[in-house]
Amino acid sequence: MKEINVEKTASRGIAIAPVYIYEEADLTPADYPVEKERIGEELEKFEQVKRDVIAELEQLSEANPIFAAHVAIAGDYTMVEAITSRIQSGEKNVEQAIAEAVEEVAELFRQMDDEYMRERSADVLDIGKRFLTKCKNIAVQDLSAINEPVIVVARDLFPSDTVKMNPEYVKGIITKEGGVTSHVSIMAKNYGIPALTGVAGILDAVKPESMICMDARSGRILVDPEEEILAEYKKRQQEEEAEQERIKKYRSMEPVTADGKRISLCINVGSTDEIKHALDKNIDGVGLFRTEFLYMENSHFPTEEEQFAVYKEAAVLCPKEVTIRTLDIGGDKTLPYYEFEKEENPFLGWRAIRISLDMPEMFREQLRAILRASAYGHIRIMFPMLISLEELRKAKEMVEKCKDELRKEQIPFDEEIEVGMMMETPASVILADEFAKEADFFSIGTNDLTQYILAVDRGNKKIASRYDSFHPAVMKAIETIIQAGHKYDRKVGMCGELAGDVNAVSRLLEMGLDEFSMSAGNVDYVRSAIIG
Ligand code: PEP
Ligand code: MG
Repeated sequence: MKEINVEKTASRGIAIAPVYIYEEADLTPADYPVEKERIGEELEKFEQVKRDVIAELEQLSEANPIFAAHVAIAGDYTMVEAITSRIQSGEKNVEQAIAEAVEEVAELFRQMDDEYMRERSADVLDIGKRFLTKCKNIAVQDLSAINEPVIVVARDLFPSDTVKMNPEYVKGIITKEGGVTSHVSIMAKNYGIPALTGVAGILDAVKPESMICMDARSGRILVDPEEEILAEYKKRQQEEEAEQERIKKYRSMEPVTADGKRISLCINVGSTDEIKHALDKNIDGVGLFRTEFLYMENSHFPTEEEQFAVYKEAAVLCPKEVTIRTLDIGGDKTLPYYEFEKEENPFLGWRAIRISLDMPEMFREQLRAILRASAYGHIRIMFPMLISLEELRKAKEMVEKCKDELRKEQIPFDEEIEVGMMMETPASVILADEFAKEADFFSIGTNDLTQYILAVDRGNKKIASRYDSFHPAVMKAIETIIQAGHKYDRKVGMCGELAGDVNAVSRLLEMGLDEFSMSAGNVDYVRSAIIG
């Protein structure tokens, strides 16, 4: 048995299951020369690979229409010709020919005028990966295909990986990289999956047939435990379940403090699926809808119609309140179909509202979709990462422009829609008073606020012990924000991870926080702490 201890917990709970090691395949093309008489074999190999990949894609496209374009591109003359001509020249083996040709064809797509066609370059790259994995005979690991209980162990998991996982079967997550507020941790918490991140020795400790017990409350991982220890953990798991049952009893109660203040208790989500999952928790709404997952799961920038359908579904599912945050991409979140320039400091870089304001057409489509959905429930708009009043004004202007368009088109929307902002940058704290005059509400994003106030990267495990949302400077910032908001009668919420931490509840209540929004898995605990 091997034991690993971790200082901080990403998402609490106990899991016992066999390991599923998620490895990123090395697709560097092999570098062997091809003699003239073997060119035919290489061509044949490509033919076989192409047939297999197309068959695989056809199967995928039955379940998901996104793959229809992949099928067409994989068999397309330009692509096939670009590969076979390179093999025929005798200068490239099949793997080198695929890698080169795919890059060339992807570039062709990137140069096209039509936006839809430009976005197909991501499909081309995906097909290239499929060709190469088949050539190298590597079994592709498909996280969406997991259909029995496992604990996923990986170097790191990107949001685009986590969105594919079925929480019914993924019982736990352990990653070598990442901090407790990295997005894999947030996703895990949203689904109530126990998770530990930044676990340095995990990949060396497990073998494909290993069994894992993880206690993501105390931060302990046991690999291949003996029978008695396994039994002990199963017992603890039962106790944990019993505790959850006990806490559940609070569900029907209103979150009212000892001095009679009714607190709003909301959830953070990245999809409508997560709302459905949490509807039985007696929540007051969605305090944060992270729309970036909608962009990341797609093969192209989601259109106004596609977004409208999702936001409308959210509004209908949760009529009390749905706070939709406009796109917060950049930082650790990228898009499979859009090439971001490499940045030295992505968390200080082209991110969130900066991108939206720089890409007005994309921003407009999102705002129109949100506004249109506001006719079906109680939707609020929220902007991320603001540092200046100018940004807030520009973003609000864009909302007004979209409203005008919709009025002209006689498309209904909520004329009174509230437009608020995340408070997650030091500049927003310092200017909190000014912002309070112009924003309809505040929501404190402690994940970023902590990293920016303390200058501690939220995903860097080496300095994870310095990442502390209870630091007096962060606490003071929170208090400043709440006071500024209240001075102008604004409701102040919090949607950073601190809002779901039971140890923070009494301090936040004392400061006057009005709304707590958190991963669904924490709602019962926080409600019981508020009621006391
Ligand atoms: C935050 O920064 O606290 C927040 C809620 O936003 P995100 O974690 O998506 O950056
Ligand atoms: Mg943030």
